[in-house]
Amino acid sequence: MKVFYFTSHINHNKLGKDVKNLDIYFYNTLTRKKERFQPIDKKEVRIYSCGPTVYKEATIGNMRTNLFQDVLRRVLRYNGYKLKHAMNITDVGHLVSDGDEGEDKMLKSAREEHKSPMEIAEFYTKLFFEDLKSLNIETPEIICKATDHIPQMLQYVRALIKNGYAYETSTAVYFDISKLDHYPVLSNLNLEEQKAGARVEVDPEKKSPYDFALWIKAPKNHLMKWDSEFGPSYPGWHIECSSMGEMYLGEQFDIHTGGIDLVPTHHENEIAQSKGKCGKIPARFWLHGEYLLIDGKKMSKSLGNVYLMKDITNKGYDPLVYRLFSFSSHYRNKLNFTWEAIEATSKSLDRLKNAYQMHLKGKEEVDDQVISDLEKRFHQAINDDLNMPLAMGVVWEAVKYEKKSPKLAQLLQKFDTVLGLKIEEPISQKEQEIPQEILDLVEQRKQARQAKNWAKSDELRDLILEKGYEIKDTKQGMEINLIR
Ligand code: AMP
Ligand code: ZN
Repeated sequence: MKVFYFTSHINHNKLGKDVKNLDIYFYNTLTRKKERFQPIDKKEVRIYSCGPTVYKEATIGNMRTNLFQDVLRRVLRYNGYKLKHAMNITDVGHLVSDGDEGEDKMLKSAREEHKSPMEIAEFYTKLFFEDLKSLNIETPEIICKATDHIPQMLQYVRALIKNGYAYETSTAVYFDISKLDHYPVLSNLNLEEQKAGARVEVDPEKKSPYDFALWIKAPKNHLMKWDSEFGPSYPGWHIECSSMGEMYLGEQFDIHTGGIDLVPTHHENEIAQSKGKCGKIPARFWLHGEYLLIDGKKMSKSLGNVYLMKDITNKGYDPLVYRLFSFSSHYRNKLNFTWEAIEATSKSLDRLKNAYQMHLKGKEEVDDQVISDLEKRFHQAINDDLNMPLAMGVVWEAVKYEKKSPKLAQLLQKFDTVLGLKIEEPISQKEQEIPQEILDLVEQRKQARQAKNWAKSDELRDLILEKGYEIKDTKQGMEINLIR
């Protein structure tokens, strides 16, 4: 697609001469309303997204948040903007809870997996980017690792101390929220109510329970620590985003994104830090993605409903089916994952690709007005706070249009710069090789049968079934079939 910049109000678009540049509206968590978006710099939009803490595999819930951020990128580019998008990789200093209590997530995994924190971080970072790639999620222009920016973070902490917004205790350097004119500004936290029900205070030297750690003094056997005037120590969780955001995007940039859970603690504290350091809220727009539910419930280990991308691909689905599925709900609404919905979406993706091919080969005449009307409505939908369910409605109209014409194929291709569904690629080969995990279970079942342990054999067959494969014992031997 050709890129146009906002020089006038007319977008001299190849497909529809009458299509005007449309305003973009985003719901801003900071002001709690939909606002017209205009970047600080006319041509380039600067975005910061809170990235993964790389201590375990990313779930399809995490991927939902990444998909929403990818759509944001693509929509901004559709509107002619260049992007400067930074995403951090948290490889140190994120404690088990979002407050300051608990064991560092990285260290916990390192201990449990008998690996060094660095090995843990490298391993899960690689998997994270593989998941992004499989979902056709673009890699942001800037990827910044927390441990590569320790000197910058320390400078930030020093500046906060100098400005009178931080104080040192025997265990940490804390941000002093009493110095702020307003706290919180992003969330509806009621500090007084929270205080009444607050847990036992961890550090008696803290002036307020809401003061949060900027820098933490390392206990003796702590693995990840750096020398500084605070002794062997390491960063608090929030400081990395403030420091790297400022370093790569400036004191104030356009958009800050993340999952909804980041609002009350992490993003609130990023704002506090930035106000203490330079008197500014770091981003003008704050966009937050809602949660993915599994069968109507929160995804959690205890419910055994934590799914990863490989659970989807192991069942033979193209990962882009999940991408298309994510468009079925607005990013600010909850989205309910079920296998039935994935199956239906898989058929929809095939239908979309088939329709593209039909239009491509079509020879019928379609009026230019039809094309520009479809394009305009698609553009309006995506510019209205990334309304993908509405935009998909327009896509299906184009797909089902009674006349088949390459003009419609070209239009679908243009839409696909936002959808990222690779509609021009052939339908994926579903009969994939049977995954090793299934083959191992089949082998265990075989052994159970040889030992005449029928209960175990049935149990394994059910487990295999749950994972999407059916075993049939035939005269010729055993058949393993993908059930779809
Ligand atoms: P976590 O792995 O829990 O630290 O989450 C990393 C990021 O993914 C957070 O910003 C969350 O907002 C997001 N996230 C986690 N779980 C979900 C979910 N079920 N749906 C959408 N986003 C999620
Ligand atoms: Zn962050």
